[in-house]
Amino acid sequence: MTFPEALPVLPCAPLSEIPGDLPAYVYDLAALDAHAAAVRAALGDVELYYAVKANPDPELLRVLAPHVDGFEVASGGELAHVRALSPDTPVALGGPGKTDAELLADVTRLHVESPSELRRLLALRTASGRPADVMLRVNLDVPVEGASLAMGGGATPFGMDPDGVAECLGLLSPRAGQDGHGPVRLRGLHAHLASGLDAGRMLRLAEAVLDYARAVGITEVNLGGGMAVSYTDPAARFDWKTYGEGLAALRRPGEVLRIEPGRALTVYCGRYVTRVIDVKRVHGELFAVVAGGTHHLRTPATKGHDQPLAAWSSGEAGEPVTIVGQLCTPKDVLARRVPVRVEAGDVVEFAMAGAYAWNISHHDFLMHPKPAFHYRCAPDR
Ligand SMILES: *Cc1c(COP(=O)(O)O)cnc(C)c1O
Repeated sequence: MTFPEALPVLPCAPLSEIPGDLPAYVYDLAALDAHAAAVRAALGDVELYYAVKANPDPELLRVLAPHVDGFEVASGGELAHVRALSPDTPVALGGPGKTDAELLADVTRLHVESPSELRRLLALRTASGRPADVMLRVNLDVPVEGASLAMGGGATPFGMDPDGVAECLGLLSPRAGQDGHGPVRLRGLHAHLASGLDAGRMLRLAEAVLDYARAVGITEVNLGGGMAVSYTDPAARFDWKTYGEGLAALRRPGEVLRIEPGRALTVYCGRYVTRVIDVKRVHGELFAVVAGGTHHLRTPATKGHDQPLAAWSSGEAGEPVTIVGQLCTPKDVLARRVPVRVEAGDVVEFAMAGAYAWNISHHDFLMHPKPAFHYRCAPDR
């Protein structure tokens, strides 16, 4: 087995107050507030929706709400959740495999994923008489090399290829009785093609999507999320300024552009803080077993990375140690061969645990206790 040489350690101060009830998630709402404000400012006229599936924590949503133009939700469950917290915030509902109830939901924008879904939507909305404002989700055959996840650029279950879009446009054409006044109103095009791309690559994708939208005569375009986040180089941040300026240059008068990032908005505001239970050497390798593990913070297991450390008790370098959790599976690894000195009882803080962390984890596996949650408050709260 080879281990990456990268040092997954952030030049980050330890928390001033370590919660007594470890393991715990600690969310820095003030940092989130400042980050969201900076992203918002960089985007100019481009609308910003937050992809709730990255982290639906109510406290985070409350902080984000004033900075975003809306929330993007991927299920009826997420829709009910955001409506209860923030009833007036616009919502876009997307995702493959929508149920009839989801297709009948009252939302600002409904992202249609296939011609057959559109046929169901037309039937349901004609019967109910309640209009829907739809965006057609396109999967363009454009190169997405360098992406950490690809939802487009080839055969995937997400969205439709240009033939599918053409079929939908036919179903919504005046000839089909849908002249913009029917129950299903075509508002725009939606494209969430890849995640993990830097600003330059995201702009090239945006250009391809906009060329396509213009070719089919659509002026409202949601360019998706997926802005890059680096777990191996936590200090490398997505260049929102370049992206915002690039989109402003691409946008033509009369066009409405929208993006819907998740991870890049919330990942940095969360830490997973825990305590070392045991340190052991097995066949020469050093392991630190911490309370909790990937059933609380599944991100490193899912993405195959080492979760970066923000701080640890000794603050000193040491022999490389692999930090594992309490689960009886070799997959329960939080970080491999981290060169820090740790002893039983030490506190370890993992950074970048604010997105796709707690909410994607298999909480009930082994029935260990759930983590605690702590929030450092935003200025006005
Ligand atoms: C998950 C998802 C997003 C957010 O992606 P991030 O990588 O978290 O920015 C945006 N749009 C759609 C349709 C998604 O499925």
